[in-house]
Amino acid sequence: MLGQMMETPLLVTSVLERARRFFPRSEIVTRSAAGELSRLSYADFYKRTARLAGALARLGVVRGDRVATLCWNHHRHLEAYFGIPSMGAVLHTLNLRLHPSELSFIARSAEDKVVIVDRSLLPLYQKFAADVPSIRHVIVVPDDGATPPDLLDYETLLAAERDDFAWPPLDERSAAGICFTSGTTGNPKGVVYSHRSTVLHTMVSCMTDTLALSEGDVVMPVVPMFHANAWGLPYSAVAVGARVVMPGPRLDAESLTTLMATEKVTLAAGVPTIWLGILALLDAAPKRFDLSSIRSMVIGGSAAPPSMIEGFQSRHKLHVTHAWGMTETSPLGSLARIKRSLDAADPAAQLGLRSTQGYAVTLIDQRHVADDGRVLPWDGSTMGELEVRGPFVASGYLGGAGADRFTQDGWFKTGDVVTIDAEGYIRITDRSKDVIKSGGEWISSVALENALMSHPAVLEAAVFAGRHPKWDERPLAAIVLKPGHSATKAELTAHLESRVAKFWLPDDYLFMAQIPRTSTGKFLKSKLRDDHGDMLMGR
Ligand code: ADP
Repeated sequence: MLGQMMETPLLVTSVLERARRFFPRSEIVTRSAAGELSRLSYADFYKRTARLAGALARLGVVRGDRVATLCWNHHRHLEAYFGIPSMGAVLHTLNLRLHPSELSFIARSAEDKVVIVDRSLLPLYQKFAADVPSIRHVIVVPDDGATPPDLLDYETLLAAERDDFAWPPLDERSAAGICFTSGTTGNPKGVVYSHRSTVLHTMVSCMTDTLALSEGDVVMPVVPMFHANAWGLPYSAVAVGARVVMPGPRLDAESLTTLMATEKVTLAAGVPTIWLGILALLDAAPKRFDLSSIRSMVIGGSAAPPSMIEGFQSRHKLHVTHAWGMTETSPLGSLARIKRSLDAADPAAQLGLRSTQGYAVTLIDQRHVADDGRVLPWDGSTMGELEVRGPFVASGYLGGAGADRFTQDGWFKTGDVVTIDAEGYIRITDRSKDVIKSGGEWISSVALENALMSHPAVLEAAVFAGRHPKWDERPLAAIVLKPGHSATKAELTAHLESRVAKFWLPDDYLFMAQIPRTSTGKFLKSKLRDDHGDMLMGR
């Protein structure tokens, strides 16, 4: 017997229409490169989104065409997020921190037809555009000044269109967006989201036990809109009618903290390197900012050190929500929420749970497996590769790349080495490419970093494998000290001795002004390995 319910397709268009009908007075606040704030009501946002769709159709964009964006976080980028998929085209977010050669590879692979680019990023665009033969039009967003006269201007195009685009009926399985993995561990690969996966991810993100988004929230995605869809926040915030605060290109701790305070942000999201800077700023001047409106700072992308989670909580009464995800998982995969049955645990145990990667969000399944494919027990100590599956997990990559990441029985291999405890809490010990293999034993770079970052003088720590003549690999630690603080190698070793096994102790420390970062703000360990990986060989 079949159910007798409507098979209404799950479309991004429905999220947009709902925003128009119910929340016309909600706002999108954008801060420009110059630091000025502009405010756009959802009513006007909707009209502009319809106009964008009209303009793209007039330029010849048809169903399935790829329309790329090369933009910071601002309201026009949000218009693209909704207008492009709702008209049946495919939003392809380009990562503005990549090298032009990577961008041309990515834009060529996606066969982008139109590119919407911030004026401030035109010099970058011009470095790769000629290598992408599929591009027919470039539309310039005048983010920091007027569009050059020989190029299409975003605002001029919108001004010529109507407010009421006739959104086409679409198959919910049709592509809505493409985002490439940022290539931290290999060539970037394209993940193709569908309308259905996007809507399901949006609903799950909003759930109370996920991010608990509501109309009363003020949501600030610090995570760039080119990094795994800004973790879905552009869709989930608009779905509930929240106020959205777009920080534009100014992502330094001072600018972000000021914006959170003045706009009374309730939920902000970004990678740990962003939050480490904000914590240092707050520690230096605890009374300077009023952040009492914040109910959750979502941290993910790489491991949030327990010392940071605890520091925000105990010194500034700010709650961190630690989440795990990947471009391939839309991206929210798991979240470190404390279950009611564990609520009574002592503060140290609670911190321990909150610094895990949590357990899978609704609709996502998790398991971890041994090298030979054996599914491993949830005992909190057996390490294996995390695998996930669910309706917003990729089933393949654009063009058939990376087929070895998908198992015969329908799981996606994440490349993350984890343990899972009896309650389902995942603890990432490493990415498989970063784990340090010393004389046949595995050393967790994440655990060492967390221990180092609990030292009061350490701002940032990245632990990576140095090649070693006897042990194959030994840990090396790159350290950035807090301004005005000092610590010697011997002091750091003494700090670690009480926290990790003796054979885990780094063989050496490198004090740096900054640790190299990936295009999405994570520590770039491959560069550390390339530059310093041989330093133990002659010893
Ligand atoms: P890239 O693979 O290029 O870094 P992604 O942003 O998709 O691009 O990265 C996903 C990876 O980031 C995960 O596989 C995991 O290794 C890491 N990651 C994400 N969130 C966390 C987290 N909360 N803790 C530890 N690692 C994380």
